[in-house]
Amino acid sequence: SSADSGADTYIIGTDTTFAPFEFENDNGDFVGIDIDLLAAIAEDQGFEYELRTLGFNASVTALEAGQVDGVIAGMSITDDRSKKYDFSDAYYQSATGVGVNPTSGITSLEDLEGEQVVAKTGTEGSVYAESIKDEYGFTVKYVEDSSTMYQDVLTGNSAAAFEDFAVIQYEITRGMGLEVIHESEGASEYAFATMKDKQPELVEMFNAGLKNLRDSGKYDEILAEYLGE
Ligand code: GLN
Repeated sequence: SSADSGADTYIIGTDTTFAPFEFENDNGDFVGIDIDLLAAIAEDQGFEYELRTLGFNASVTALEAGQVDGVIAGMSITDDRSKKYDFSDAYYQSATGVGVNPTSGITSLEDLEGEQVVAKTGTEGSVYAESIKDEYGFTVKYVEDSSTMYQDVLTGNSAAAFEDFAVIQYEITRGMGLEVIHESEGASEYAFATMKDKQPELVEMFNAGLKNLRDSGKYDEILAEYLGE
């Protein structure tokens, strides 16, 4: 049942730096809400998996190529994606935030006129940036991971980063010198994804495990560990 190997170990793709959902902590351990939820769900449901830290777009590409069985990467349920992928029940939600360097003097979307902004390939943040770039007169540069994106704004190379609000705000709370000047309307929900109709048993197990974690209080415990009470 797993990516082309025939063995009973599912291969799961995830992002590289997407705190608090997946990231390397100060001890060098790869941790996060997605990582802990997946571990707890697999334990609850009795399935084995191997994690592949590929990046967001690379995970989705690997899913489409049949190289991974599923993706857990703070991945938003969207209408477009729902045509191609099966999503589990949602386990979190976030809008897109627009983060700037406070020293830049940029305080609104209007101030992005003539500027370059940065977004991550294949993400909802990039879709949002593309959807308003003509209205506000900015261009969109693409990178593959969030730390590169933040760096591009911190160094003044790009004027703003388009990232999930929950994620950029987490970094800001922990000392990253950016500021969110705008949030998109309407949050999208995060879920685990497989290719459509390809791993129905895996999505079922994910949902059953997630429900058990919610019932037992383990879900709240995992969120509190990263986000506080
Ligand atoms: N939630 C966003 C999306 O699905 C970003 C995910 C990510 O960058 N890991 O596009």
